[in-house]
Amino acid sequence: MKNPIQRITDFTARVELELGDSLSAVLKTEEIVSRRVLQAFHSARVSDVHLRGSTGYGYSDTGREALDKVFAEVMQAEDALVRHTMVSGTHAIATALFGVLRPNDVMLSVTGAPYDTLEETIGARGAGCGSLMELGVQYRQLELLPDGTPDYEGIASLAKAVKVVYIQKSRGYSLRKTLSTADIERIALTAKKANRDVIVIVDNCYGELVEPNEPCYVGADLVAGSLIKNLGGGIARTGGYIAGRRDLVELCAYRLTAPGMGKEVGCTLDTLRELFLGVFLAPRAVSEATRTAILAAGMFYNMGFDVYPLPSEPRFDIIQSIVCQDREIMLSLCRGIQACSPIDSFVAPEPWDMPGYADPVVMAAGTFTQGASIELSADGPMREPFAVWLQGGLSYAMSKNMLMGTVQYMLDEQSLDLDRLT
Ligand SMILES: *Cc1c(COP(=O)(O)O)cnc(C)c1O
Repeated sequence: MKNPIQRITDFTARVELELGDSLSAVLKTEEIVSRRVLQAFHSARVSDVHLRGSTGYGYSDTGREALDKVFAEVMQAEDALVRHTMVSGTHAIATALFGVLRPNDVMLSVTGAPYDTLEETIGARGAGCGSLMELGVQYRQLELLPDGTPDYEGIASLAKAVKVVYIQKSRGYSLRKTLSTADIERIALTAKKANRDVIVIVDNCYGELVEPNEPCYVGADLVAGSLIKNLGGGIARTGGYIAGRRDLVELCAYRLTAPGMGKEVGCTLDTLRELFLGVFLAPRAVSEATRTAILAAGMFYNMGFDVYPLPSEPRFDIIQSIVCQDREIMLSLCRGIQACSPIDSFVAPEPWDMPGYADPVVMAAGTFTQGASIELSADGPMREPFAVWLQGGLSYAMSKNMLMGTVQYMLDEQSLDLDRLT
């Protein structure tokens, strides 16, 4: 009888071997997007002076301008707005929506309910916050079909009377499929065929650089996301970005600063070096994280958990959902990840009422940047089916150790049985 540690090591090695093709496909994509990122640095003629930053109004901050150029090219867009003063992905997406929508305009979400924190931005939940709906924007929602694909017929018939078609690429705290760039292309084509003025906005969180091409390459007009996810490369300590059509990015900038000021202001303090370095390393971070997700899928699938996506399915974001079906197993998994994390390994995560979320959320994030989910982290709302959303991992080798440690932790807590490691 082998000891548990040997069993975990052998089990993980076997799973990894089976996943060989999926893992190496990720490395191919990493090469493709790395080329684009490097080219973006050359096009923007990024220079040593650009790394220094500015104070006060930040007039003529050439570093800020070069950073916007780099992000625009990386996101295959005309222009971009990248600021450390965007506090999160929600802030970036809200800035895009408020930037573009006006009273009486209609916003149509074509991927069902938006991410939890955006319900209050839109006004579907909470009142008195100055949501889009309170300002007279009308909100409509088209559910995904039962097989998880977009309702293209519905989009074609509703898009006529709509100003914004809103797409959430990644799954959020749901078990639906993540949309691919090809899915987004078809939505954009369908919507624009019905209404050529429609503006397609994509919540791009967790999707960046996972595929060779980004949404703006295939017809999206604006994308937005967080810099403590993919595009910060694990280096950015805060921030958000918006990229897309130049005229629309300008409207977003008016919303972020003030009408008439827009992109011309906003000092960068000492953040430029880390934002440049972050986006430079982003293809690498996304690759490590995606391979971590694949390994986690393989391990938990083989231990009898339902996992989304399946280990060998193509990936369009860095997220791995693991369904625990049980509150205690879910908490044990999160405690295990926390216990194996580099920071705060000695604390146990507890569910809490996080701002913007309807249910208590448990979050294991023993990360260098608070809540950074490009670092290995696991979280989920405390509700059926008690699923954990696992993401990140700046180093595949490190993540592999952390996942094996988590299995060991769960065995120790008896939330997992050794017989499952077959
Ligand atoms: C993370 C995320 C957001 C934004 O979340 P923040 O915590 O505000 O950065 C929005 N949509 C999706 C799908 C996400 O995964």
